[in-house]
Amino acid sequence: MADLIRLLPDSVANQIAAGEVIQRPASAVKELLENAVDAGATEIELILKDAGRTLIQLVDNGCGMSGMDARMCFERHATSKITRADDLFRIRTLGFRGEALASIAAISQVELKTRKQEDEIGTCLIVEGSEVKSQTACSCPTGTSIQVKNLFFNVPARRNFLKSNTAEIRHIIDDFYRIAMVYNNVRFSMYHNDKLLHQLFPSNRKQRIVSLLGQQYNQRLIPVDHDTDDLKITGFIGKPEFARKKRGEQYFFVNGRYIRHPYLNHSLENAFHELLPADTYPTYFIYIDVDPKNIDVNIHPTKTEVNFLDSKLIYAVLKSAVKMALGKHSITPTIDFDVEQSLDLAPPDPDREIKNPFERPEKQFNPFEQSSPAGFGDPRRQKKINIENWEKLYDTSGTQTEIPESISVTSAWQQDEAENGQVKVFQVQNNFIVTNIKTGIVIIDQHNAHERILYEQFLDRLKNEKKASQQELFPRNITFSSSDVEIVNELLDEFNILGYQLNKLSQNTFVVNGVPEGMQDEDLQEALDQVLENYKQNLLELNLNKKINLARSMAVRMAVRPGKRLHIEEMDRIIDELFACQVPEITPDGAKTYTILKTDDLKELFK
Ligand code: ADP
Ligand code: MG
Repeated sequence: MADLIRLLPDSVANQIAAGEVIQRPASAVKELLENAVDAGATEIELILKDAGRTLIQLVDNGCGMSGMDARMCFERHATSKITRADDLFRIRTLGFRGEALASIAAISQVELKTRKQEDEIGTCLIVEGSEVKSQTACSCPTGTSIQVKNLFFNVPARRNFLKSNTAEIRHIIDDFYRIAMVYNNVRFSMYHNDKLLHQLFPSNRKQRIVSLLGQQYNQRLIPVDHDTDDLKITGFIGKPEFARKKRGEQYFFVNGRYIRHPYLNHSLENAFHELLPADTYPTYFIYIDVDPKNIDVNIHPTKTEVNFLDSKLIYAVLKSAVKMALGKHSITPTIDFDVEQSLDLAPPDPDREIKNPFERPEKQFNPFEQSSPAGFGDPRRQKKINIENWEKLYDTSGTQTEIPESISVTSAWQQDEAENGQVKVFQVQNNFIVTNIKTGIVIIDQHNAHERILYEQFLDRLKNEKKASQQELFPRNITFSSSDVEIVNELLDEFNILGYQLNKLSQNTFVVNGVPEGMQDEDLQEALDQVLENYKQNLLELNLNKKINLARSMAVRMAVRPGKRLHIEEMDRIIDELFACQVPEITPDGAKTYTILKTDDLKELFK
């Protein structure tokens, strides 16, 4: 019988290998960015079409390649970065496996133009599905420009696995961030479908993070700094009060490489222990530098995992560095989440009539009416509020985390009882509004509920072009990044309807003549930056229409924050307005706004 085993042709072998390295456009972008950084570029331009499906182009001003190298670089295991196995433990570059370009060329149509500074003439090379189509001399600037067209053109199965453009571009942006956050001295620009998404100038690391994630991060970051001979840990952690419900902003970099490391993540979360509200995750940007002989990066084709020789040591040092950083900024476990600069209405003077910053919706449906005959707007309650007792509830002299919930509930009870003998509504841990209903008690998440209320109000205004009342301001100037300016221009009318009166002053600067009532005391720049940040995030992740997106972005920014003490009138209003909403149960992005504990459930607890 004839022998069956044959060697695969190179093009097929490359295609199979490509599957490990290049799963989606973002993987190609990552590899190309890494090559440009390794080539010592100080300026890198990334140009994308259709989320990288039709074009990924990377232009750098790095060292460039000779004609021979240009040809060689598409061979598998062709690299200038290591020559011997030993070198694996001396790696200072991002790449070293010599697989990326071979993989990319196996599954796309590539055009490479490159020139070394000392050469007069450059090289242009065209490769399609691993096959070199042409190699010619060309004139081009020093550095390398590589165009990757029609990724997966010859692997339809792969192509079919790609997600929507929105999802794919999100992956690309993630990878772009992971490189841009480290190489802060490099100038980066990123275009998608001819739109400038990012323009980053050389700056320090903090500024780089801020220009990527938004101005609001300027106030949110605490520096971490631990420097010994063989281990350097630098970077930033987010202040605990800005911890997020999602794990989004957690970055570890080891020797300039973004990595995932659940064990080190644990160390960090451990350092934050007791400082974070439940179900939130710390933000961090941690840069670890170690002697390359103490790590092994060669454990995964995409190099996002790293083995440390002594990970226990790193765990311990990291934890102590973060604790020290937290301590230095006197954020001890007695943290008072109230100190966060709140965006919402300041607690009103008890004798002053509370004014609603936004008109109330017409609907007066109140599902609790039966159980509360006096109604939530009971004037008896609104007058004599014993502020002193309320203060006790929020006494922060002890550690907040140590106060068992039962105690706060008890004092709330006493407070209201002292007032009129009957509990109607109270706040627990500055976070939840609790009130009686006929069948038990309802517990409302104040932030989520307010977000739902504002969202419906904003959307209603935008759809029906009902202008919100506006507060005149002493004109203030605010500035946006070039990419944000475009969005602001598009949204001027909508902002106006919602109460912001913005007039263009120059390319990037606007003068603000009016804001929605209740927002006068806000840091305008911070507020609008955050709204735009949310807006962009929604664009990328959800592809929402303009009005819905803006309503959502503003609602989440303007909703009363968790940790904010509320006045009885404010709680009453939230309850009234929440249950007048069309969808009172959830926030626009699906989080619960309230839950009901039935009397029967309560009885069950005491069995
Ligand atoms: P690796 O980065 O692991 O060495 P690649 O396949 O990514 O493997 O690249 C192969 C080689 O091509 C690199 O080692 C480098 O010498 C050269 N090269 C790739 N991209 C560039 C670039 N942008 N500028 C200069 N040289 C490059
Ligand atoms: Mg490489």
